[in-house]
Amino acid sequence: MISFYPGPSRVYDEIPKYVKDAFALGIMSINHRSDDFVKMSEQTIKLLKQKLNIPKNYTVFFTSSATECWEIIAQSIVTDKSYHLYNGSFGQKWFDYTKRIRPFAEPLPFNVNEKLDAKKLIFDLKEGIICITQNETSNGTQVTNATIRAIKKNNPSYLVAIDATSSMAGIDLDFKAADIWLASVQKCFGLPAGLGIMVCSPQTIERVKTVNEKNHYNSLPFMIEMMDKWQTPFTPNVLGIYLLMRVLENMDSIKTTHDITLNRYTNWVNFLKQRKTIQHFVTEEGVQSHTVIPVTADENTVSAIKKSAKKEGILLGEGYGTFKPVTFRIANFPALKDKEIKTLMKFLEKY
Ligand SMILES: *Cc1c(COP(=O)(O)O)cnc(C)c1O
Repeated sequence: MISFYPGPSRVYDEIPKYVKDAFALGIMSINHRSDDFVKMSEQTIKLLKQKLNIPKNYTVFFTSSATECWEIIAQSIVTDKSYHLYNGSFGQKWFDYTKRIRPFAEPLPFNVNEKLDAKKLIFDLKEGIICITQNETSNGTQVTNATIRAIKKNNPSYLVAIDATSSMAGIDLDFKAADIWLASVQKCFGLPAGLGIMVCSPQTIERVKTVNEKNHYNSLPFMIEMMDKWQTPFTPNVLGIYLLMRVLENMDSIKTTHDITLNRYTNWVNFLKQRKTIQHFVTEEGVQSHTVIPVTADENTVSAIKKSAKKEGILLGEGYGTFKPVTFRIANFPALKDKEIKTLMKFLEKY
């Protein structure tokens, strides 16, 4: 089965070999306070910064998922108000979880085909946090680096937090344009689920130290203290970190990956333009995600496509929410191979 599900998604072919290596090397039972772990953790973070072009003065944390990162931010950074710009299910969930912890969370929903206008997004508190889902996996839209940069520039005292779960390691993100970046590894990293990554700017670390919230095992002041020694407050997913390190060792620079992703995205857009019964779900090209391709058709066509795809050994991503019956999604993640994409295009050609 070829999985085009946008998460959990196709993992790299090398993963079974790396797992075997991990077992042979004793990684699966190493102590998370040992020198061996510390070396591996440091090396993984060094590679992550190098391959993804993350500024040296940013701090990387290991968590268990992107969802956990949402909660960490709500607990340890938000003190009062947080603004949530979203147009889909993941952004809304982030808002919902935050609101349960911090009741003054404010939703700022926008439309699927709407491009955010940074000029209109100037906030008036002394400081706060603006939460943006860079790549909305549920509907295949994205917010560009330029927009994120402009929002931060217009609101310099605010922290800008970015959910890049389904784009980090797939496209070239401008890390210095925002303060907090979060992701999990089962999407563009081509790894099995169970590891989250959070990247924080120096301004974020300063804010965390001022707020100094210490009520949870994963309160950021504890995480900072432990990460000073390349460790985590809890026993982390050591195998996941090892697999991440191995995948990063073999990873192209993000510029190269970005070009491949963009090229494949363009091919998908052109391919869909030529179809009669299926179309790209997002009509405004400027907001289309580069890593998740949402496709729309009438209900009968969508259910027929899903069914026959399965028979052909192709797993498509389900649509989301109200659009579920009339959409399906195609992951455009780096671990997918050209010949697998060709197979899917050939299958979809008749629609
Ligand atoms: C998948 C996804 C999440 C949730 O990731 P978990 O690892 O399940 O916590 C959050 N945000 C976005 C945009 C996603 O695509």
